[in-house]
Amino acid sequence: MADLTITDITAFGRGKQMLAGSTPVGELPRVAADASADSPVEWRIEGEIIERGDAPEYSGQVGLRLQLTASLSVACARCLEPRRAEVTVERRYVVFETDEAADAAPLDDDRFDPVVARRSLDLRELLEDELLLAVDPAGVHESCPPEALARLGLVPVDEGVARIEEAPSAFDVLRNLRPSRDEG
Ligand SMILES: [Zn+2]
Repeated sequence: MADLTITDITAFGRGKQMLAGSTPVGELPRVAADASADSPVEWRIEGEIIERGDAPEYSGQVGLRLQLTASLSVACARCLEPRRAEVTVERRYVVFETDEAADAAPLDDDRFDPVVARRSLDLRELLEDELLLAVDPAGVHESCPPEALARLGLVPVDEGVARIEEAPSAFDVLRNLRPSRDEG
């Protein structure tokens, strides 16, 4: 397993360095727990200096850009059979020197995620985090295999959703067996 750690994030970012690779899902244990894949996760991370036009408050600060693509096999939330999740992530990070500065960054910033410079950056952990965020645990097939639904007592209906097929209750069965007093 190759070492996928950026030890000096600030130097990496300031030097606009770039790393790219293909990482098998099996090397990403937290993802592999719920997903499998025939093809590896393709990724690329690049350093940058954030420009004023991108974020005035971070202008001149070191940043990172991550791109990743993966094609994972995960369980369908409706029929539980494997479904394919095509994942594309493009994420930018702003590098802070201290934990305090990173903690002070707004949590609702959907452009940049904070990264602390003094720690090294474990790319496998980063890839895991991003993949786990990107795969919707409630994701379902566009149309589930009918036989898989049938095994779960579900029947497909028009809109691609399934409903629970009502099984006759034990009371109904008994009532039908018992001769009605009104008869005869
Ligand atoms: Zn399904």
